[in-house]
Amino acid sequence: MTLDITTTASDSPRSESEVAEILANPGFGTYFTDHMFTLEWTPGEGWHGGRITKYGPLSLDPATAVLHYAQETFEGMKAYRHADGSIWTFRPEENAKRMTRSSHRLAFPVLEPDDFVQAVDELVQVDQRWVPEGAGEKSLYIRPFMIASEAFLGVRPAQHVTFMVIASPAGAYFKGGVKPLTLWLTEDYTRAGRGGMGAAKTGGNYASSLVAQQEATANGCDQVVFLDVAEGKYVEELGGMNMYFVYADGHVVTPETGTILEGITRSAIIELAQKKGHQVEERKFSIDEWREGVASGDITEVFACGTAAVVTPVGTLKWDGGEVSGKATDDAGPLTMEIRRDLVDIQYGRADDAFGWMHRVC
Ligand SMILES: *Cc1c(COP(=O)(O)O)cnc(C)c1O
Repeated sequence: MTLDITTTASDSPRSESEVAEILANPGFGTYFTDHMFTLEWTPGEGWHGGRITKYGPLSLDPATAVLHYAQETFEGMKAYRHADGSIWTFRPEENAKRMTRSSHRLAFPVLEPDDFVQAVDELVQVDQRWVPEGAGEKSLYIRPFMIASEAFLGVRPAQHVTFMVIASPAGAYFKGGVKPLTLWLTEDYTRAGRGGMGAAKTGGNYASSLVAQQEATANGCDQVVFLDVAEGKYVEELGGMNMYFVYADGHVVTPETGTILEGITRSAIIELAQKKGHQVEERKFSIDEWREGVASGDITEVFACGTAAVVTPVGTLKWDGGEVSGKATDDAGPLTMEIRRDLVDIQYGRADDAFGWMHRVC
């Protein structure tokens, strides 16, 4: 099944010189392309009304359910421009499938993965001049999302749902070189418990992470680390990135899935590291193993990963009353940087796509 999508070109697109100026210094999440994609769902009609129109504000009834009960899910992915000018996305069907899993958890109707990918492709094609040159790790960040758009204050799954895709040019995550992060271990707040929404990509998880992030910032740290709810002992992930630990003997550990978000970067790294001959363990990983492993030198590198930053080295872990720093405090570790380069090279078409991860948009 393919979606019927009508396209109405914006009557006021940005001029070429405005676009060039924005792409020279896009930052993150500030500027948006000329168009957006919209699709609606009702029980009677199913998914319908697929359209690409001028980017602009929505008009919502104040009783719109998402504003009250946070029935919402979203995705984050990027389009990359290769040296020959072609435009590609990275494993988009994985984002599409993850949205169906999130939709299930949030009691939304399922949008077929093929329709998700088609919607993203068509928006990127229409706004292709907004995909920056790949040099300097620029990209077009793509934000598909689904909201309960029914105006109704009763608590039940919405009978009117809206799926949209918007896109925003993004600069390199690290300006002036990759720099290790300092992380704050929160002992007051948790992210997700068993049976909760931890594995769904939903705004509520981000809302609940903000106060912990404030605590991290107040303690001079860049990001916050969450532990499991049940025992307060096992490392889960950061607010929006998964974690990896590299041992001196070459094996690599990443927390198992269940209550964490199943990162597409995380799963790509499992395959990349295995191909390089590293044994990868997905298991429960305790905060004591982290502290003691880094202190003893058994753990030689720690890094976080996600679409926005790709791979981010971690230098220091702080908590209330202490801190531990690895060897790679000022500079990223060698495997961290190798994996980062391997991934980025595949995404920008500078290395052979041995895993078949890249999807050509145009
Ligand atoms: C999106 C996200 C990640 C990273 O997932 P990627 O698919 O690699 O971008 C990790 N943790 C959380 C909580 C997220 O929302």
